[in-house]
Amino acid sequence: MTARIIDGKAIAQEVRAEWKIRADALKARGITPGLAVIIVGEDPASKVYVANKVKACAELGLHSEHIALPADTSEAALLAKIAELNADPKIHGLLVQLPVPKHIDGDKVLNAISPDKDVDGFHPINVGALATGNMRFAPCTPYGSLVLLQKSGVSIEGKHAVVVGRSNIVGKPMALLLLQHNATVTICTSKTVDLAKYTRDADILVVATGRPKMITGDMIKLGAAVIDVGINRMADGKLCGDVDFESAKEVAGWITPVPGGVGPMTITMLVANTVQSAERSAGI
Ligand code: NDP
Repeated sequence: MTARIIDGKAIAQEVRAEWKIRADALKARGITPGLAVIIVGEDPASKVYVANKVKACAELGLHSEHIALPADTSEAALLAKIAELNADPKIHGLLVQLPVPKHIDGDKVLNAISPDKDVDGFHPINVGALATGNMRFAPCTPYGSLVLLQKSGVSIEGKHAVVVGRSNIVGKPMALLLLQHNATVTICTSKTVDLAKYTRDADILVVATGRPKMITGDMIKLGAAVIDVGINRMADGKLCGDVDFESAKEVAGWITPVPGGVGPMTITMLVANTVQSAERSAGI
């Protein structure tokens, strides 16, 4: 068997076009959805992510503000900036690019963002909403992974979904989203004994560990849908996932490549969350 490759770039384009229609409808009513991204310091990877977020907004005709603060910005000054943007009616989505410098308390920052504008979905109120089945903003990477499954025609209800990784930004919200869609969900971590026993039983396998190529073909059920969230830079400069694509694609039914799988969906869902936030603020 050779798996169907889930083309994240093509699906991201399709999803962006759908959300552009909704953004245009808002604009016709005089509301331009707006996203503000705050970055503190000079982390090169973070700068690239922020630039890509701003670019995606421009592509869809959204208003965006990129606020670059120096690395020595005080916590109080950052919180004041967040409060200002929380109150700004042009802004419907607000995020602070993580990680923040060590002298700033990351939890305080996440808690300061208005839950109504928290398009990353990291505020405890939105985490709680997802956990109780009243989703407001789903974190973008797991949300994008879910949309990849849906757009690829993978049925979720009643299936055994195994999520490898339990981070707050990927693994845990992924598991909750799959549960919300009526999968039977298992979460595996670095402490799981006999990981392959679980992965081999997965109809849907989502891997987010940051361990290059750790899931090999022999750990995958024939015909499974495999979503590889991992992005690892190898010594030769190439990117690879947490799944060994070459052996996995011979067993899986569907698989995401790295790059070109989950990656393009993350920013797409950020834009989607921003448009949705603007719709909500307009009472739509
Ligand atoms: P974290 O380091 O926060 O979490 C990794 C998780 O994997 C932990 O829960 C850890 O378990 C688990 N884990 C580590 N080793 C093993 C193992 N051998 N067996 C089972 N579980 C294991 O990572 P993130 O969730 O932030 O990111 C995961 C990957 O996804 C990274 O490669 C990252 O670059 C990528 N990523 C990609 C994004 C995208 O846009 N495509 C966005 C965000 C992340 P434990 O809790 O026990 O330590």
